[in-house]
Amino acid sequence: MEQQGEGQLKKRKGTPLLAVMDESCSSCAGSPVCELHCPVEDCINLLYEETPNGGLKPYRVWVDNDKCIGCQMCFSDDSTKVHRHKETGEIFREYAGRYYDSSKRPLEKEEVPKKFQLELIGTESEDRLDKKICPWDAIKMHEFDEGAELSKYFYGPENIKVVNGIYVIDAAEKKRLEEKQSELYGG
Ligand code: SF4
Ligand code: SF4
Repeated sequence: MEQQGEGQLKKRKGTPLLAVMDESCSSCAGSPVCELHCPVEDCINLLYEETPNGGLKPYRVWVDNDKCIGCQMCFSDDSTKVHRHKETGEIFREYAGRYYDSSKRPLEKEEVPKKFQLELIGTESEDRLDKKICPWDAIKMHEFDEGAELSKYFYGPENIKVVNGIYVIDAAEKKRLEEKQSELYGG
């Protein structure tokens, strides 16, 4: 049974990491590859910019810091996934299609829980070959507090508008972010 009381809903689960998409993000031309890998709904969001003629075009993605569980699945395709059994609380690890128990013993096929019984709570990296997801290397994983600070250079959720259900950044906010980025990179 889920032990998630109302007061805990906003608490972050999993690893104490946060994904931050930086100025190299191209939005993948409006079809973000990273979003396809993120297991949390509405965590990675496409952001549009206003064009001078009043139109909109894809700009970047922004991460909802309250939703990101730091699982790194948007970052690398080469991590061990850590799952928790929703009923028993047992921990299982998954790598390259194989499942292991909490002491890393490989499981027999009949011991593997059903997918719906498992909740992804994070990932572990064992320094395997790093298969990065982002073609532009725009995703960096940070300790949560440091990442939350840094994310303000790339997207300030409080300054993002919602227009007909899509996220839009206006010219003034874009300029503010670009100034912050040159402060960060000294350029
Ligand atoms: S995969 Fe990289 S470039 Fe594409 S939307 Fe995500 S962060 Fe941006
Ligand atoms: S670290 Fe996990 S939860 Fe956070 S944005 Fe990436 S895929 Fe989504």
